[in-house]
Amino acid sequence: VIEAGVPEHSVVTTCAYCGVGCSFKAEMKGDQLVRMVPYKGGDANHGHSCVKGRFAFGYATHKDRITEPMIRDAIDQPWRTVSWEEAIAFSAKRLKDIQAQYGRESIGGITSSRCTNEETYLVQKLVRAGFGNNNTDTCARVCHSPTGYGLKTTLGESAGTQTFDSVMEADTILVIGANPTDAHPVFASQMRRRLRQGATLIVADPRRIDLLKTPHGSTSMHLPLRPGTNVALVNSLAHVVVTEGLEDTAFIEKRCEPDAYKAWREFISEERNSPETLEAETGVPADLVRKAARAYATAGNGAIYYGLGVTEHSQGSTMVMGIANLALATGNLGREGVGVNPLRGQNNVQGSCDMGSFPHELPGYQHVGDPAVRERFENLWHVKIDDEPGLRIPNMFDAAIAGHFKALYVQGEDIAQSDPNTQHVEQALTSLDCLIVQDIFLNETAKYAHVLLPGSTFLEKNGTFTNAERRINRVRKVMAPVAGKEDWEVTQDLANALGYPMNYSHPSEIMDEIAQLTPTFTGVSYERLDELGSIQWPCNEEHPDGTPTMHELDFPIGKGHFAITEYVATPERSTRRYPLLLTTGRILSQYNVGAQTRRTENSRWHEEDVLEIHPSDAELRGISDGDWLGVSSRVGQTVLRCRISDRMQPGVVYTTFHHPGSGANVITTDSSDWATNCPEYKVTAVQVEKVSQP
Ligand code: SF4
Repeated sequence: VIEAGVPEHSVVTTCAYCGVGCSFKAEMKGDQLVRMVPYKGGDANHGHSCVKGRFAFGYATHKDRITEPMIRDAIDQPWRTVSWEEAIAFSAKRLKDIQAQYGRESIGGITSSRCTNEETYLVQKLVRAGFGNNNTDTCARVCHSPTGYGLKTTLGESAGTQTFDSVMEADTILVIGANPTDAHPVFASQMRRRLRQGATLIVADPRRIDLLKTPHGSTSMHLPLRPGTNVALVNSLAHVVVTEGLEDTAFIEKRCEPDAYKAWREFISEERNSPETLEAETGVPADLVRKAARAYATAGNGAIYYGLGVTEHSQGSTMVMGIANLALATGNLGREGVGVNPLRGQNNVQGSCDMGSFPHELPGYQHVGDPAVRERFENLWHVKIDDEPGLRIPNMFDAAIAGHFKALYVQGEDIAQSDPNTQHVEQALTSLDCLIVQDIFLNETAKYAHVLLPGSTFLEKNGTFTNAERRINRVRKVMAPVAGKEDWEVTQDLANALGYPMNYSHPSEIMDEIAQLTPTFTGVSYERLDELGSIQWPCNEEHPDGTPTMHELDFPIGKGHFAITEYVATPERSTRRYPLLLTTGRILSQYNVGAQTRRTENSRWHEEDVLEIHPSDAELRGISDGDWLGVSSRVGQTVLRCRISDRMQPGVVYTTFHHPGSGANVITTDSSDWATNCPEYKVTAVQVEKVSQP
């Protein structure tokens, strides 16, 4: 059914699901999209794809799409369908009135990692120039914000260091807190090709992930750590490297800052960081840690790939720095086959961070506190920019509940479903005087909105996405926007209605402005993207064709900076009342909160979220496969169907969050990363009991 019809023409564009950023030919018959064919010329995927990019595009024409703007005075009133002009004028008046009554800082905006670079850039510009404050944040707050902090502190740049192709030169592949076969399938296939050629695999994960089904020719090790003990594990790996003389001393002497290295070496050598001391904490046998550390440090080329199992913890930023320490100590940076590589979850999470979505950074990770940086933006934007960072998403929620944050513009993000502690989020959203939601569906957040602005899918717009290897890919319009406007046009209209003029006629002009203001993008333009196919930033005078491998000769901060990574146990520990630790993740056919994939053919493979539990924990509780389970934490409770699985370790349970009814985030808590407030989704102490059907 999906592939019915004979295509007449095609458009090359980029998948809007995960951070691999696969290129596709969208094959058309008239104005109908007939099928998505993986594009052989795609630099990230070389003609490969997964079931999401290949089949899950039907949501774009789903009957649930919002096709007309809607407004209402209060959230207990019915929606009124209005023209674009009326919806924009209504929004602008509300925002102006609120600022007049409560002050400039009383409103803010949230950008989307699903939208293009150009759209993200425009939302943060609207907030800074149109709203006059720095209250802009992004959904990366809840996934990879610790990557930004950790990699910038240690290596000087908030990005992965390699191309995906680089894995074909790796001798040992260390995967920490990631499940590539489900979450980044095309890259997982490339990893598997390398493993079949004989590379060694080390997986640090509480679950026995599918990548461990060792392909012929490779050695694999599983470090089944207890959720929440990442930093203890990475410290014990580094302890082995240092105390067994496995460091790359030539690299350290030449490339690393000596005082920081000396302090770190002293710290990490202490017996409290040894695998033997930490074995009881991590649950990983000391001899296995020693074996893994040797395999990584002596591999020749050791490459690290990590995911949200690293970042979504109370020590997420510390763990990212711990990973960077390990790569610096072993000289595994600055060439093919090595590196530190965050596997970005959403299609444009790298881009949304690059484009200045965070409240403390303008595009290109340039701090708002730097007067020279502000001056360049002020000269081009013709406004004064606040020199103080604005509110992060959790601070916006707290300020809303406290009564001094009154309005929020949210583009392409379902915060009511995706942020932790749903009860707290709902309390914040109901405290707002004006919530403007721009989205393709009436999502959970829209239930609390006063204005609903129809969004556009990736098929309906021009722009760019930046994938997990810093690769900027073109997104090309395949069909007309169902509601008549691309997302960037809506933001532009809102800015104009607020009195801040914007008059772009095409996203390429927005990219030209980004290139003027962002030192790592000065060589990027749509002409160059069409010419080269894609570009990995930095792309500037020094690197006119982009930069496949980062840090070859030096780091943006000069020398690599070792950071002290003291392990602090999470408050989310198992107790007599909540004896199990819950962790969360995705499955192959579905994507995040499922707003898109649930409305496609992919739903035939996954109809509900379940709770995976180890056979011994199930037996202890008299639970059988398929039973309904009440799952409660200290903040809430939900009901999930049971799946008994020996992928789990005793004491740990797991669920996905693809369906709004499953309520995974009803039970996740407010515990968050000390540096960035990234929520600790990956460990929640819970109780599990058999219940009758909900
Ligand atoms: Fe899309 Fe990621 Fe699948 Fe590629 S691997 S097709 S980018 S979801």
